[in-house]
Amino acid sequence: MLENKTRAWVKPAILVVILIALIVLARILGLGERIGELRSWIEGLGIWGPFVFLVIYSVGVVAAVVFDLPGREAVHRGIAVLIVASPCALIIATPVAYLASVAAAARNGVLIKGGAHLESVARAVVVVFDKTGTLTTGRVRLTDVIPLGGADERGALRMAGAIEGSSNHPLAAAITRAVNEWGLTVPAVSQYESMPGEGARGVVDGRSVWVGRPERAHESAPGVQEDLRAHAERLRGEGKTVSAMTVDGSAVVFAFEDAPRERARDCVRQLRAQGITRIEMLTGDHNIVARGMAERIELDGYKAELLPQEKLEAVEQLRARFGSVVVVGDGINDAPALASADVGIAMGGGGADVAMEAADIILMNDRIENVAWLHRHARRTARIVAQNLCFAIGVITVLSVFAAMGSIPLPLAVIGHEGSTVLVALNALRLLRG
Ligand code: ADP
Ligand code: MG
Repeated sequence: MLENKTRAWVKPAILVVILIALIVLARILGLGERIGELRSWIEGLGIWGPFVFLVIYSVGVVAAVVFDLPGREAVHRGIAVLIVASPCALIIATPVAYLASVAAAARNGVLIKGGAHLESVARAVVVVFDKTGTLTTGRVRLTDVIPLGGADERGALRMAGAIEGSSNHPLAAAITRAVNEWGLTVPAVSQYESMPGEGARGVVDGRSVWVGRPERAHESAPGVQEDLRAHAERLRGEGKTVSAMTVDGSAVVFAFEDAPRERARDCVRQLRAQGITRIEMLTGDHNIVARGMAERIELDGYKAELLPQEKLEAVEQLRARFGSVVVVGDGINDAPALASADVGIAMGGGGADVAMEAADIILMNDRIENVAWLHRHARRTARIVAQNLCFAIGVITVLSVFAAMGSIPLPLAVIGHEGSTVLVALNALRLLRG
């Protein structure tokens, strides 16, 4: 009698000890970090489902034969094994976590186009920011209009307004705002053409107008080159972004002020504290302006005066040197880099449509600090997925062994199986709190 009582608690105790041992073993083997591989392996099992079913059932039956059981009990044991070995908990371990995580992110204004991107964010080692419109507010203010060679300010602004009215670049928006503030009406533009990362051109009042990087102005206004360079250098020294307009050989210099987002430096610090090894800025703007910005928000490095294609190449170099790269950008000029990054994050409020299409994740409210939050959130999601997978595999293994040995009656098998599935789902739902 006493012996029977002792045996009644020994079996569950062994069960618990084995389960704990399995979880510890999973930690030691670093299963958490290898969870991606494990997950794809489990997903790959999908087509073998019916086959696996049969094998599991046979295990139960064979066990019954080995233990020399009567036919009825053999069938029961086979069913018990089949129930506890069914990988329900394992199958829902990842998707429920991703669903909860994506929902929590959406509530926080972060739109994730698929759960798998969370895994990439959690694995990232490099974060790369665009400057204008991403690290800065994009609420750019036009501060200087300097006509070179005869043109007047109002006329210059009208011309620029005509071209920039068709562009969605933050600098173009600043020109359009200034045009409205000055109460000017803009003439119509024809043959408009945008050159992402460089500028735009068109024909206004029958004259060919070009707006863009001052360094490119020599092509259409070689005469004012020296003057233009001197002005650009001085204004950039003040931390301003400079662009130029050329009309029939004469030129106008525009300077803009573009404040960094308030939380940009915080975000950079947090990302670093959370284990991102390299945080850089890639910009089409001039080197002097870029350096000022990089120092102000404490970046690890920057590359300036890049064309869209060069941003993409810079991302590929960073990936080759350090590893997985997250790109955060807002403009058409960022689209190639966003698309080639391991994860592309676009500004959803002020960003260009093309950027949002190329990106995997969109920050709906343009809050830069959400990049750091997203990284924390993705890490937490990965941890919970790892816990779930380890727990599910542990429970399934232990219960299967015991069921095959006949130590688990059918009702208990059902409770163990459903219980573990519910526990896995509940654990994943913790992510809903964000
Ligand atoms: P970022 O990479 O910082 O977002 P861009 O690549 O969009 O900057 O622009 C780089 C430079 O090209 C600007 O500093 C500006 O001189 C010029 N530029 C690009 N587009 C325009 C535009 N629509 N109007 C005026 N200047 C432009
Ligand atoms: Mg930009």
